[in-house]
Amino acid sequence: MSLFTKTASWVQDEHQMFADSVSRFYDAELVPNLEKWIDQGVVDRDFWTKAGEAGLMGGAISEEYGGSGGGIGFDAIAVYEQGARGDSGWGFSIQSIVMHYIVAFGTDEQKARWLPKLVTGEQVAAIAMTEPGTGSDLQAVKTTAEKDGNTYRINGSKTFITNGHTADLIVVVAKTDKTAGARGVSLIVLETDGAEGFRRGRNLKKLGMKANDTAELFFEDVKVPMTNLLGHEEGQGFYQLMKQLPWERLLIALTAIGVIDFAIAETVKYVQERKAFGQRVMDFQNTRFKLAEMKTKAEVLRSFVNDCIVQLEAGTLDAATASMAKYWGSQTQNEVVNECLQLFGGYGFMMEYPIARLYGDSRVQMIYGGTNEIMKELIARSIDV
Ligand SMILES: Cc1cc2nc3c(=O)[nH]c(=O)nc-3n(C[C@H](O)[C@H](O)[C@H](O)COP(=O)(O)OP(=O)(O)OC[C@H]3O[C@@H](n4cnc5c(N)ncnc54)[C@H](O)[C@@H]3O)c2cc1C
Repeated sequence: MSLFTKTASWVQDEHQMFADSVSRFYDAELVPNLEKWIDQGVVDRDFWTKAGEAGLMGGAISEEYGGSGGGIGFDAIAVYEQGARGDSGWGFSIQSIVMHYIVAFGTDEQKARWLPKLVTGEQVAAIAMTEPGTGSDLQAVKTTAEKDGNTYRINGSKTFITNGHTADLIVVVAKTDKTAGARGVSLIVLETDGAEGFRRGRNLKKLGMKANDTAELFFEDVKVPMTNLLGHEEGQGFYQLMKQLPWERLLIALTAIGVIDFAIAETVKYVQERKAFGQRVMDFQNTRFKLAEMKTKAEVLRSFVNDCIVQLEAGTLDAATASMAKYWGSQTQNEVVNECLQLFGGYGFMMEYPIARLYGDSRVQMIYGGTNEIMKELIARSIDV
């Protein structure tokens, strides 16, 4: 299994070497812990620092800030390989999103302060956009960040926040001007250590992604220095979010292709062993045709995702194309995992086989990062110009 297509122009020797080393790291440190993390509802904190030591999180961050100075393709590999091991619990995707927000919009001082600790895993990041009352309609957020001397005072609440219990650094989407609509939105970075008035709620019980700590967050007059406004100017939050969305959406498609590869491999193993009516389940024409369909979908998605990586590295991946990758990738993942589960028969419904877990994990891919309905809306806008 590999993310790379044979013709992918972005892939160099160092990407192949990185993929090999990430694979070895996951096989040694992630796969053996999956069940434990699912039971405890959170990934062990020291896994983050081990991943940092293995150089997994800084592939796309410049050497000045402790990274290896490569392109976004390195993060793409780390995310694909995680999906290809059937894990949805470790929140590296969010760490990557936040690091790239800081790279794109942070001041030099902010980059120097935050990036090195995110690269080493000493700090874990989260991004808090969604609120109990609003998700898709991000402009309607109610959380406020009011100026108070040389600080912002944050009030409000967020929900469904990935890494919410572990996070040390939270990018909070808040209104610095309640009257200015999208132009009143800013991104304020909260350092949670010792932050008075900041509270984490429940670790939410979910259909899937059970090893991730997805949480509610509460802010009551939380004081944050004004120097923690991401970037130089207030009111840029909405623009900053939109600018980074192509990467967020592509991450979801990368997970999709990883999970699809894993699901097909597990299913092939099963149907080659399982017998019915005196023959292998693999030998039924229905099984062969289903697997042929799935493999075709996987290869079409892989090509599209590789092309998106080339465009992202060139700075030309537009919102509509990234939305296609998110929508089609996540939908295809759900179709494939559903068909795979069927080929397992009753065992597919049992949690002792990873396919049951993948079924639960896959569903949210069509919801978070912007729902697939919102993706179609964005794609439609590019048609109806
Ligand atoms: C496991 C998990 C992890 C998450 N992690 C994070 C995180 O780390 N940070 C974060 O900020 N958020 C996170 N989210 C939140 C996620 O991004 C939102 O749930 C998502 O954007 C949808 O928002 P909503 O739940 O408010 O649904 P709503 O916006 O209320 O949507 C409800 C339904 O209406 C549809 N709809 C809404 N608007 C339109 C429209 N204009 N046209 C057509 N249909 C529409 C939607 O597609 C959906 O089907 C996470 C969610 C989950 C479940």
